[in-house]
Amino acid sequence: MISVAIDGPAGAGKSTIAKTAASKLGFIYVDTGALYRAVGLQCIRKGINTEDNAAIISVLPETEIKIVFRDGEQRVLLDGSDVSEEIRTEQASMTASKVSSVPEVRAFLLELQRSFAKTDNVIMDGRDIGTVVLPDSKVKIFLTASPEARARRRTAQLEEKGVSADYETILSDIIKRDHNDTHRETAPLKPAADSILLDTTELDLEQSINRIIEIIKENVQ
Ligand code: C5P
Repeated sequence: MISVAIDGPAGAGKSTIAKTAASKLGFIYVDTGALYRAVGLQCIRKGINTEDNAAIISVLPETEIKIVFRDGEQRVLLDGSDVSEEIRTEQASMTASKVSSVPEVRAFLLELQRSFAKTDNVIMDGRDIGTVVLPDSKVKIFLTASPEARARRRTAQLEEKGVSADYETILSDIIKRDHNDTHRETAPLKPAADSILLDTTELDLEQSINRIIEIIKENVQ
């Protein structure tokens, strides 16, 4: 089985780029952020104070998270119901970032993430795929872009969906999440020593996808 790890900060376009590259290469695509978002959503639903790690940990034994694929598309099930859309709000993003710093949450999600690489060729995206989840991946890519470019893209994406979006708020959320992700003690966001850096600040989507596919092809031969 071939596994490709794509890590990088929020909003670098990892999911869109990885999803398209996976479908072109015939790999499955796993978006691991969705799992942290599902834990975040569970905390919101249960009214948990996310500053309280013990409270976050206490919801894990009564939380069941699954990933299923429908028409090749990843869906996330929380306690049996599909929450794939509900986990995309800005509130769920910030909560996901908070819960992801708790080591017990990371341990809770580890085996589920690893299981996909055992049975399929996979492109998996996240923050610690190349460093922790799949350290033996054949190809590791660290995908990044400037915070401003990421905030511009996110604003445009939301506006396209008809959701009102404020660039300055989104930029400040991105900077906050970058800080949380890179400064946490457990599995902080950082390029694996053997990763290939791809900065998409100056690239459009198509160029980014083509470049990723090139990198994967060059490295799996
Ligand atoms: O990628 P996405 O923005 O959906 O991830 C949501 C949050 O989950 C991130 O801010 C990050 O804190 C966390 N995450 C993580 N490790 C991963 C994937 C996501 O800590 N492998």
